[in-house]
Amino acid sequence: MKIHGLQKMTLLDYPGYVACTVFLGGCDFRCPYCHNFELACGAARPVMDDSELFAFLKKRRGLLDGVAITGGEPCLHKDLPDLLREIRALGFRTKLDTNGYHPGMLRRVLEEELVDYVAMDIKNSPAKYAETSGFRYFSVEDSSTDDPMDDPAPVHTGAIARLPGISHAEDLTDRVLDLGKIKESISLLINGTVDYEFRTTVVKEFHSSEDFFEIGEMIRGADRYFLQCFTDRDTVPYGNLHAPSVETLQKYWRIMLEFVPGTELRGINEPA
Ligand code: SF4
Repeated sequence: MKIHGLQKMTLLDYPGYVACTVFLGGCDFRCPYCHNFELACGAARPVMDDSELFAFLKKRRGLLDGVAITGGEPCLHKDLPDLLREIRALGFRTKLDTNGYHPGMLRRVLEEELVDYVAMDIKNSPAKYAETSGFRYFSVEDSSTDDPMDDPAPVHTGAIARLPGISHAEDLTDRVLDLGKIKESISLLINGTVDYEFRTTVVKEFHSSEDFFEIGEMIRGADRYFLQCFTDRDTVPYGNLHAPSVETLQKYWRIMLEFVPGTELRGINEPA
């Protein structure tokens, strides 16, 4: 398997463990706020193959606890189970990041006990899932929140393609998002025995209070849910997207507590 990136040590990507992060290329979503878009759309070149990764890991035994597998979308790779099996055979814990769109692969790695922790994205409420994951064209102006309790909507000139040669969702908008796959993955995790978290990257232009009531219904009873604040950077394919205010995030946190008592704000203080 080709490896598209390796962060040799992280204290953040695998909560509670010292880990390295392995990036796999390709993704079947085109989230407009993606931090790894060149990796997701296939523009980034591999940096090593799995034999080089295993050689690296052998030298890190006793220094690292675990390996976080991220992307892109790792579950697109049919040899993901082999990769996970080999990593575990070397004595490392495994964490898998996924967009939740491959319940068949998720079921397999859970049933074969190849992962110790799964982090699954919940992109948005059902009505906005397609535009938030790049299956539908979006207008930043049109999708501004109309919730009077939220921040005043910023003035937009529309989404701005920032990365040259990348047209938003060009290759996805002829497809229809199958929300059933997302719901199946949610069910697998909630009803399974492996530790997991759900998480949403909150973008001012895409999320409102109403969305979190619907997200709450989707994952009601989950163990853990994190609200993560969008941060802009050069690798995000579209400019003109913004982080919500801390007050807005705290309001969403309060909404989600009704559905998932284990809801936390990641990287932001919760109100007393
Ligand atoms: S699911 Fe979205 S955010 Fe994650 S890698 Fe794919 S395009 Fe990027």
